[in-house]
Amino acid sequence: MTNVRRLGIYGGTFDPIHFGHLAIVEEARWFCRLDQVLIVPAAAQPLKHGHLAAAHHRLEMVRLACAGNAALIPSSLELDRPPPSYTVDTLRACRERYGPEVELFLITGADAAAELPRWREPDQIARLAQIVVVERPGYRFDENSLFTAVPAVRDRITVLTGPQLAISSTDLRERLATGRPVRYQLPDAVLDYLTRHRLYHAEEETP
Ligand code: ATP
Ligand code: MG
Repeated sequence: MTNVRRLGIYGGTFDPIHFGHLAIVEEARWFCRLDQVLIVPAAAQPLKHGHLAAAHHRLEMVRLACAGNAALIPSSLELDRPPPSYTVDTLRACRERYGPEVELFLITGADAAAELPRWREPDQIARLAQIVVVERPGYRFDENSLFTAVPAVRDRITVLTGPQLAISSTDLRERLATGRPVRYQLPDAVLDYLTRHRLYHAEEETP
């Protein structure tokens, strides 16, 4: 932990985690030369309602997805606190745990970054961490409206094009519920896990 100078923090619902998530983390990790990235499932996303899989399942899928990449660290930071999960609290906890020397990089997709003005204490977020936005197919990221809403972000942002994978958890859940394939959109180990636990499958009809 003491060797970590540049730490990425990547939050989400991860319901389930997929290759779109992993690919943007890898892009940010490479571009910003991050030593480690914490992958932090949210306990209860304040702006999002109705998780479909329990927190422990989402964390376990994150663990399975991170296996094999020593730089990706599954984190229960937000699950260990009572909900809702606020990013500003997570950043403060990281600052405390990793010390004043560590540089924090908050990684988000373009759609999540556009929501930043609605997050708790967005100015503090920008002071605590550099913001790394990775573009996402289907979303146009307008940095000027973000700067107008949260001026502190202006000098603290990096926007990356990224691999542009049009994968979303919503689409995966819909596919699973209707029996369509999801293989090659998420790690096999995650697919095995969610199949074994029937996390997103339609309820079987009772005869
Ligand atoms: P849902 O459809 O349930 O919202 P999601 O696929 O958007 O799921 P989240 O857990 O909401 O996944 O996203 C976590 C973070 O990852 C957010 O910052 C989001 O912008 C980003 N993200 C998710 N999928 C992609 C993708 N394919 N490309 C770029 N960024 C992504
Ligand atoms: Mg989302």
